[in-house]
Amino acid sequence: MTSGENWIEETLHSSWRVRLKPSRVLHDIRTEHQHLVIFDNDDFGRVLMLDGIVQLSTRDEFIYHEMMAHVPLFALGERAADVLIIGGGDGGVLREALKHESIRSTVICEIDQGVIDLSLKYLPEISAGAFDDPRVETVIADGTRFILESGRRFDAILVDSTDPIGPAAALFTKEFYTACKDALKAGGVLVAQNGLPFAQPDEIARTCSFFRETGFDDSHAYLATTPSYFGGPMSFAWGALDDQLRHTDLDTLASRFERSGIAGKYYTPEVHKAAFALPQYVKKLVEAEA
Ligand code: SAM
Repeated sequence: MTSGENWIEETLHSSWRVRLKPSRVLHDIRTEHQHLVIFDNDDFGRVLMLDGIVQLSTRDEFIYHEMMAHVPLFALGERAADVLIIGGGDGGVLREALKHESIRSTVICEIDQGVIDLSLKYLPEISAGAFDDPRVETVIADGTRFILESGRRFDAILVDSTDPIGPAAALFTKEFYTACKDALKAGGVLVAQNGLPFAQPDEIARTCSFFRETGFDDSHAYLATTPSYFGGPMSFAWGALDDQLRHTDLDTLASRFERSGIAGKYYTPEVHKAAFALPQYVKKLVEAEA
């Protein structure tokens, strides 16, 4: 991240950049694992940045957090009992996941305590008290270690990580995805943030290929466009041990959604189904051999 004349720049891409003008910088620190900045911007609200990449803005976080949680959990329905979130230290995915009454336990494994602490301090509305829910166990650890050592099994594993640079690089490997598959219960599902297919095409292509090689019964992706993830729609890699889960019909999703009483601002059963309809350039990446 560089800030010239008081602008804060994303530094993810080598040949293009986006700048946001901070009306106020609330915190700027090197935690044990990454460079964390929290600042206010007139158009995006409050912004969390890690290692020069926007992680969330209070204006549009609902899109990503609802879609990462509700697509797998409404597809699972009552089977969604034990959930693992890897990353997600801002608490947004946790907040949305806990709205599902079927959930008995959620483990959130976040490598950086600083992200949790500073999100609670400056962005409390993102987790909205979710970390205090009695169903939640917070583990401060590397997700790659936790998944290998915990010996626990989950119905859904949601990987809400940073991009594959720094501490998250290991979360985009075949070894990690294999360990996730082994940690899923029968019929379970893994969903992993996998970048913007337009700006980072290799990520989703590689991950879906790893999912097939790892032996998931269904490997696919779904999309949702979050404006503060600059460069097009965000992809969620889908690895399921049930090849029909992605095809859960609209009526079933609609009755589950209706019964749940979950309101939200983005997710609907129709949006759920449509999110898996991939434009050709993404479909090609998802189906490409490694
Ligand atoms: N929604 C954002 C996105 O799509 O880019 C991600 C937000 S969340 C803040 C990302 C989190 O992943 C960070 O808090 C970071 O500390 C965490 N993380 C990165 N590598 C990790 C690892 N190996 N194990 C556990 N958490 C990790």
